[in-house]
Amino acid sequence: MKAYSYACRDCEGMEACPASVVAETEAEVWQLMEAHARIAHDENPAEWDKDTRDYLATLIRPVEV
Ligand SMILES: [Zn+2]
Repeated sequence: MKAYSYACRDCEGMEACPASVVAETEAEVWQLMEAHARIAHDENPAEWDKDTRDYLATLIRPVEV
């Protein structure tokens, strides 16, 4: 089936992070990315600006699972 994936190491500056998420919808991937950013990187996704979200969106890839 089709799904979407995000690998944190693809993000600039996060090359050492092993986390990745896969979910059925992009919306779910965003939720998981935000949870991961809070838990692992002590970030507040509410503070991500449009440029950050546009950049992160380019890192979400369609996959076949
Ligand atoms: Zn990470």
